[in-house]
Amino acid sequence: MAVSQLPKLNLLLLSTPVGAIGSGLGGGVELTLTNIARSLIALGHSVTVVAPEGSVLDEIPLVQIPGNLQITAQSQGRDALITLPANSVLGNCWNYARQVQHQYDVLINFAYDWLPFYLTPSFERPIAHLVSMGSLTDAMDHIIGEVAEQFPNTIAVHSLAQADTFSFRDRCFNLKNGFDLSQYQFNSTPNNHLAWVGRIASEKGLEDAVAAVQQLEIPLKIWGVIQDESYWNNIRANYPNAPIEYCGFLSTQDLQKALGQSRALLMTPHWIEAFGNVAIEALACGVPVIAYRRGGPAEIVKESETGWLVEPDSVAGLVEAISKLEKIDRANCRLDAEREYSLEAMGKRLEIWLDRIVQSQNF
Ligand code: UDP
Repeated sequence: MAVSQLPKLNLLLLSTPVGAIGSGLGGGVELTLTNIARSLIALGHSVTVVAPEGSVLDEIPLVQIPGNLQITAQSQGRDALITLPANSVLGNCWNYARQVQHQYDVLINFAYDWLPFYLTPSFERPIAHLVSMGSLTDAMDHIIGEVAEQFPNTIAVHSLAQADTFSFRDRCFNLKNGFDLSQYQFNSTPNNHLAWVGRIASEKGLEDAVAAVQQLEIPLKIWGVIQDESYWNNIRANYPNAPIEYCGFLSTQDLQKALGQSRALLMTPHWIEAFGNVAIEALACGVPVIAYRRGGPAEIVKESETGWLVEPDSVAGLVEAISKLEKIDRANCRLDAEREYSLEAMGKRLEIWLDRIVQSQNF
């Protein structure tokens, strides 16, 4: 465990307004926030989480905020305007934060939304922003860039590739991610099937994995929330004979058990995936990862040690990589997750980041 250089902090973590924690609609942010909260608590800091009503979070103080959910940024175009629904849960969360801010040392924002960045100069407490996606809209780039300039050290990202999508790349702290590895069991004897895990939405590129298994006639099990129903229906219509099975959205406990039985995880994103939590979850179970050489997964997968990287958008590349799977030692995969992505490893990075914020705010 890291020896803290920091004073013990009282921290308010504000979750994504696109879905309740536990719903899956918030994507990787839900688990990321949970893991960061656990990691900070293990280091002796005190943590309260603010999240949309309906959120579930075991053993971590939680303030549930009512209101209407935000639309996800990745479903809009580059020139998308900033929009908020009536009675916005995002607005309500930050109104709450404004009122209670003096009880906390630092606020940590997990929302990829304009409002918390815009409000940053008007808060009296420092706000640390964990940016969960790469560049998507001009309005977001602009406001995050302004905060990066005005409040040095307050912007963190999950990978260098994600930072590289922004003009303020050099001002980003690379936090990567971390997981409670005791929740993931190593499995050395998989079944024959492959796995695909994630939100079922066009940026995740599920169709490429389906096309690959159709060619190979190897079963593919799919886990995750169906975020875009028509996208999913199109895949089923376009690949009627593919050996695929949709297995629903599972809790971490059930997901890791099912995932561990897979020969490999296929990651086929069409966007620059900021990190790709599911890559680490697979490695933690001893499951090799086959991913496009793009975004976060390209920084996670170690070629021929923990999986294979494939030319982006190449189904033929996926097919070839699947044929080389027996060269990967599953024990190496688990070891790699333990080395870099444990809660302890992330805790060290978190404290460096928070320390810089506290120092630069003369806390
Ligand atoms: N997930 C889950 N149950 C499932 C499928 C996925 O809890 O059945 C979670 C998974 O643990 C991961 C998240 O969904 O934390 C997906 O996050 P990722 O970073 O891979 O992608 P994102 O959705 O953020 O683009």
